[in-house]
Amino acid sequence: MLDADIKQQLNQYLQLMEGDVLIKISVESDSVSADMLAFVEELASMSSRITVEKTQLPRTPSFSINRAGGDTGVTFAGIPLGHEFTSLVLALLQVSGRAPKVEQEVIDQIKSIRGNYEFETYVSLTCHNCPDVVQALNLMSVLNPSVTHTMIDGAAFKAEVESKDIMAVPSVYLNGEFFGSGRMTLEEIVAKLVEAPDASIFNDKEPFDVLVVGGGPSGASAAIYTARKGIRTGIIAERFGGQVMDTVGIENFISVKYTEGPKLAASLEEHVKEYNVDVMKLQRATRLEKKELIEVELENGAILRSKTVILSTGARWRNIGVPGEEEFKNKGVAYCPHCDGPLFAGKDVAVIGGGNSGVEAAIDLAGIVRHVTVIERNPELKADAVLQKRLYSLPNVTVLKNAVTKEITGTDKVNGISYIERGSEEVQHIELQGVFVQIGLVPNTEWLQGTEVERTGSGEIIVDNRGATSLPGVFAAGDCTNSPFKQIIISMGSGATAALGAFDYLIRN
Ligand SMILES: Cc1cc2nc3c(=O)[nH]c(=O)nc-3n(C[C@H](O)[C@H](O)[C@H](O)COP(=O)(O)OP(=O)(O)OC[C@H]3O[C@@H](n4cnc5c(N)ncnc54)[C@H](O)[C@@H]3O)c2cc1C
Repeated sequence: MLDADIKQQLNQYLQLMEGDVLIKISVESDSVSADMLAFVEELASMSSRITVEKTQLPRTPSFSINRAGGDTGVTFAGIPLGHEFTSLVLALLQVSGRAPKVEQEVIDQIKSIRGNYEFETYVSLTCHNCPDVVQALNLMSVLNPSVTHTMIDGAAFKAEVESKDIMAVPSVYLNGEFFGSGRMTLEEIVAKLVEAPDASIFNDKEPFDVLVVGGGPSGASAAIYTARKGIRTGIIAERFGGQVMDTVGIENFISVKYTEGPKLAASLEEHVKEYNVDVMKLQRATRLEKKELIEVELENGAILRSKTVILSTGARWRNIGVPGEEEFKNKGVAYCPHCDGPLFAGKDVAVIGGGNSGVEAAIDLAGIVRHVTVIERNPELKADAVLQKRLYSLPNVTVLKNAVTKEITGTDKVNGISYIERGSEEVQHIELQGVFVQIGLVPNTEWLQGTEVERTGSGEIIVDNRGATSLPGVFAAGDCTNSPFKQIIISMGSGATAALGAFDYLIRN
């Protein structure tokens, strides 16, 4: 079942197992069960540390990975290939006793959780956001006997997915109730279960020389540059890694031919932590005010003070803002074709937006769904010619230009989309089951409203060639600024510029 390459890699990983592992498998006479049994037996044949035992689990086919001395609660309902293969390997290693690469503070938090936490995560094997969630919850199960976790492959348990109306993955349930969907880091999940740190921890901090707000490529780069100058640096990041966490393949990060978003995000964090930087994760800035020092207020009410601030809050998906979008989010309205595309297999979908991301999404989806309608409000698509050529060559794609989306319709989930034909102004309606919104990004700068930090009409922070904003001592970098191009390498460069600009400002003041 496993090809030679995978077997070779797996062989190397299995050498790292530190103790014995018992796989308990629940199978019947169907073909998926037969495949799962063959898969698990193949695993066991590769390591003397793995044994297999047949049992009855709540879902069939499924298998759990346990220590020789007792159950861990880590279960896979579905064969964890595709993006989940790494989740399987990590589960085997961690259950065998191999220490996870996680900060001790987080491990202690996980171990402190008390109660009964039965997690279930619905995934698709092509979803690049799912493994982070699966791996985080698996690790929690390994570390804490109060926690169990089952990964459920939506393709193998279609009836269950449909009965729960799941239209976005990962979708996580805790004790049968919806817990959350989309990418979540281990720290984010743990933060939902344990008490938030007291605001006084932040209030008591000495003022910073430079406080970076945002932990994407620009913020990480800025923090590394200022820390290397030996000045007191702090970084607040709601989600460390930023948009990079949502990126699958990256091929234009110069000098690295190919990498993947989460991998790059982990390297960014590791690099920042090489220096004396106070990293404050899962914290959101809500207010900025210049007094004697610059004050940044956090969502929890705490106030951090700094001589200079570098704003690097990046951007997020732009909403289309029509009726039905909010109502049907995760019920047919989606933003991530790689993640949620497989849930629309055999169905009809629309992609709103004819730029590069919209056309790439449409090409991707056309290979999975029955039919894709691309809806572009302008007379022409804006995507690169090469992408357009590929799009027009596909038999199951219709492109509507001069079409303005009016409403996403549905009852409990999406059942169609209405648009206005520019020119005739007639309203048209298409019946479909999914809408992917791909109309670009919006800067995360609303929280600066009312400050002296000047922004463009679309909310981008205006900076000069040193990264300085209109408010002395406040600098900005990356996708939240009026930089005409939004790319990783450009953000990192502008983070460095803002850091050097801030350092220069500190010397002169
Ligand atoms: C799907 C996708 C694919 C992409 N592919 C590529 C590619 O292949 N190559 C490429 O070069 N670029 C790519 N990009 C663009 C690239 O990811 C961005 O240009 C880059 O991440 C911008 O970095 P940034 O640090 O400015 O902002 P972001 O990456 O957006 O990071 C912003 C940071 O600020 C934090 N934040 C936001 N608001 C607050 C607040 N109020 N308080 C505290 N923290 C806050 C966020 O949590 C995050 O940590 C892609 C983008 C997307 C969405």
